[in-house]
Amino acid sequence: MYQGEAYERSRGGFVAPRQWNMVDCVCGCANLFTMNEMRSVFENFNELADHDVQNSYLRGCTELVMHENFVNGRGRNIFRYKVRLPTRTTIVCQKFF
Ligand SMILES: [Zn+2]
Repeated sequence: MYQGEAYERSRGGFVAPRQWNMVDCVCGCANLFTMNEMRSVFENFNELADHDVQNSYLRGCTELVMHENFVNGRGRNIFRYKVRLPTRTTIVCQKFF
């Protein structure tokens, strides 16, 4: 990714692939994946052409479960977050996603 490379260059000229950002959530979503699975998901995502493609990919991984209405007339959408692997699709929490 152009932005990633520019970022690395500005920090000393070394262009390295960005690493998967491990999230340590209370529900332990990280334990649902092996390191190899994590790496392949992350690399596939990085290979997507540009931010538009990445954003539509991420939209495809979120699923609107319900709309919750508050008594004050406002509301919020409840989403479910999915990580797609070649062999399975795993539901994770919003923090991990
Ligand atoms: Zn979690």
